[in-house]
Amino acid sequence: MSRPDPSHSLNLQALANSSQPLSGTVLLQNLERLAHETIEPKPDLTVNWQADAELRTGKSGQQDTWLHVQASTSMPMTCQRCMGEVQVPLHIDQWYRFVASEEIAMADDDASEEDLLVMAPQFDLLALLEDELLMALPLVPMHDECPVTPAFSAGILDSPDEADEKPNPFAALVGLKKI
Ligand SMILES: [Zn+2]
Repeated sequence: MSRPDPSHSLNLQALANSSQPLSGTVLLQNLERLAHETIEPKPDLTVNWQADAELRTGKSGQQDTWLHVQASTSMPMTCQRCMGEVQVPLHIDQWYRFVASEEIAMADDDASEEDLLVMAPQFDLLALLEDELLMALPLVPMHDECPVTPAFSAGILDSPDEADEKPNPFAALVGLKKI
């Protein structure tokens, strides 16, 4: 049994009229573009989100719809320094103001601190969330401090310390046989 997910076709007016924010959890694998950025898809990874809308009176007396979106998740990515797995926390906390048309959005964009979106009867909140999370990804994911990998059995092999000789790949086997 599954009920329709309201986050794909959000009714902004209803949300603005409600005093309760809408919140939910979406599986990362359902956000395909974002899931593609992980080291490997894991079925249990989730994104927690919350959305709230309100009406505010604009400069010329019009009622504007504002949307507040928050989301957080942790993405397993490949560290570009040690190539190991690094958990990248992502947080979104963003306000949007809805405007009537693309033209208004273009004209007002430079003067507005908030992001502008064009009002639509149905609004795909999850698509917006995914866009924001993709933009929040680090260009070069990296550990703050890479985990130290144990030095590869340097002591055990007891290799001769002659710098001018190429290391013999079979030295390790020989060494093991002696023991
Ligand atoms: Zn690392």
